[in-house]
Amino acid sequence: MILPIVAYGDPVLKKKAVEIDKDYPKIEALIANMYETMYGASGVGLAAPQIGLAIRIFLVDASPFAEDEDLSEDEKAQLKDFKKTFINPVILEEEGDEWVFNEGCLSIPDVREDVFRQPKIKIQYQDEDFNTNVEEYDGLIARIIQHEYDHIEGVLFTDKLSSFKKRLLKGKLQNISKGKIRVDYRMRFPAMSKKR
Ligand SMILES: [Zn+2]
Repeated sequence: MILPIVAYGDPVLKKKAVEIDKDYPKIEALIANMYETMYGASGVGLAAPQIGLAIRIFLVDASPFAEDEDLSEDEKAQLKDFKKTFINPVILEEEGDEWVFNEGCLSIPDVREDVFRQPKIKIQYQDEDFNTNVEEYDGLIARIIQHEYDHIEGVLFTDKLSSFKKRLLKGKLQNISKGKIRVDYRMRFPAMSKKR
């Protein structure tokens, strides 16, 4: 089932999400719905707060990035097969010199900005069977994970921009909150659901 994606301005996107355990109700259906929602919106990642749940779970499918002509064959192959569910993740380490990448977000349609992040991460998480894994990633996969991880910490990529950039974007972000945007997937807009 495709769920509406929560738009910029909804308080759930600013909350630090809580851990879940394997007794969380209908977790399998929730994960399946999140994948369907992510694919329906052509996203490469989706975090639970983006469907209105402040719990620590996100998904990544990096395969669309495998089409990028600038990448090496190795990188393309790695991205093509990267599909993973992260439950209760903790980024243990981040290292290296920050690099820039033009990021976007399903909760902030039509906004893309350069964001600086460190290139390498070590992450601990539980998989769909609640087995704990510790893995290291770099490059675009690390980038997507960092972006999604920020979501469960209540942080959006726009929070990382300079105050000048934020000022330039203010009107556009307000319009997104109000639903004054054309988007080809289902969304839930905070300023529209509020009653006066
Ligand atoms: Zn996002």
